[in-house]
Amino acid sequence: MLAFVRGEVRVIVDEAVSEEVLGALSVVDEVYGLSAKVERSDLSSFITKSMNRRRGQVDALELVRSVEGLVPEVGLLIVIVADDIYVNGFNFCFGLAYKRSAVVSTYRLRHQELNTYIARVSKEVSHELGHLLGLNHCVRRDCVMYFSNSVEDTDNKGFKPCDRCRALILS
Ligand SMILES: [Zn+2]
Ligand SMILES: [Zn+2]
Repeated sequence: MLAFVRGEVRVIVDEAVSEEVLGALSVVDEVYGLSAKVERSDLSSFITKSMNRRRGQVDALELVRSVEGLVPEVGLLIVIVADDIYVNGFNFCFGLAYKRSAVVSTYRLRHQELNTYIARVSKEVSHELGHLLGLNHCVRRDCVMYFSNSVEDTDNKGFKPCDRCRALILS
């Protein structure tokens, strides 16, 4: 494994996110062999600061930048929020990675079936962690690094990077 991934993956789940989402975080270890240090915290001050009031959505890049101070000295940070997020040029996004931190929003991943909801969150966490480990988007629809334009894309893709993407992490 790469030297820098030996540090922890700090995962902060906002208090507004329902408890069952914690079950999605085993993907960090199962897919990447990294240990997640999971915390529950009130991220509302960061979320409020990053809110675009005109759009009624959180600016994902602003949010990821605002939590940079929470990134472990050696390691990566993923924050999980319940609010709807977007990046410029898109109506919404499921997540965003920038430098050593990423955000995943559960807002558009909800489903009446808990298993489906948890699977979606797992895939989006796996996707953003892939970005943090240096991966770009992949054209294979079953690869977790496939870009999800809709939640159906998320449902159709797998939890893991394809062999080609995986090789890029390990090289
Ligand atoms: Zn992506
Ligand atoms: Zn791939």
